[in-house]
Amino acid sequence: MNKSDSEIIAGLLTEEGLYSELADPNLADILIFNSCAIRENAENRVFNRMQEFNHKRKKKSSNQIIVLAGCIPQYEKENILKKYPFINLIIGPNTFEFLPQLLSQVNSQSALHLAEKKNTNFVSKTILRTSNDQAWIPIMYGCDNFCSYCIVPYTRGREASRKKEDIFKEIEQLKDTKYSKIMLLGQNVNSYGKNLYDNYDFADLITDIQKLDHIRTIDFLTSHPKDMTSKLILTLANNSKVGREIHFPLQAGDDEILKAMNRHYTYAQYKALVEEIRKHIPNAYISTDLIVGFPGETEEQFQNSIKAVKELSFYRVISSAYSPRKGTVAASMPNQIDKEEKHRRLLLLQGTISKFAFAQKK
Ligand code: SF4
Repeated sequence: MNKSDSEIIAGLLTEEGLYSELADPNLADILIFNSCAIRENAENRVFNRMQEFNHKRKKKSSNQIIVLAGCIPQYEKENILKKYPFINLIIGPNTFEFLPQLLSQVNSQSALHLAEKKNTNFVSKTILRTSNDQAWIPIMYGCDNFCSYCIVPYTRGREASRKKEDIFKEIEQLKDTKYSKIMLLGQNVNSYGKNLYDNYDFADLITDIQKLDHIRTIDFLTSHPKDMTSKLILTLANNSKVGREIHFPLQAGDDEILKAMNRHYTYAQYKALVEEIRKHIPNAYISTDLIVGFPGETEEQFQNSIKAVKELSFYRVISSAYSPRKGTVAASMPNQIDKEEKHRRLLLLQGTISKFAFAQKK
């Protein structure tokens, strides 16, 4: 989603001919850092980079403008102005369509622009696509799920689907370009259409996109298991344009931990869905996400995640150590696991992944 946002920001700034992209950030008049707040590491990295450029800027007495965009501002809110007064302009993930106008008003004082919700009616005229052969198409913004470890509902706001006409307008722009593959994006694509249509869901959207001649492959990210339906599985199975890698985040192999994570499914329910997907789509490549060291996770509960990797032969597993995010429910849970132990569990999990996942070959 961040990559897609960056492509839209770059498109907005270049479409009026006011700006162009430069390969060397040292020579740029404006530096835009599009930030991610999902883990502490990502946050530290962006601040280190900004401070580095601020230092160079001071040394050269240059007027380079530093912009911080994305989820960190929405997460930190007003605190960010106090913490990093050297940043010229700060915008959240829901306001970047105002960036060209805001850049023309930059003065010596830091300015902060945030909004709780994204304007779902916004359609980009120009998107500066950077991927080789796949176009990212956001179909919805925000999330209503409030998984207890996750900051996204607080940074990107509540879930809102884009109108299908707007999505099709954006896909139409791909005609006669090199992009015949698309990746539909949303924090929880399986609930596309909720609160927008009475009778039109993600499966219907896929069915309609499949009819477009200029689109050869349709992928999507990300599916929440609690919203995976038999209708969607059958639609995927009967749709030859849908890519066969299905990203299906499990997050933990233990029911108590899944409950504490507020995921709304058990391991058995998840496993049954994997079996249903594989029954209807025998050539499906199921990939997943797993978090180790969630607050209170015992050795036995951690071993249940190891067991899941052994049992479900995932095609790909994205593993991470739990990173507390201020303001989330999990961050204030007792029994936080210390860093060394989380690291130990992560290494053990990754060892298991390298033996048991990637078992299927594309
Ligand atoms: S579904 Fe859960 S993990 Fe995914 S974005 Fe929403 S709150 Fe975060």
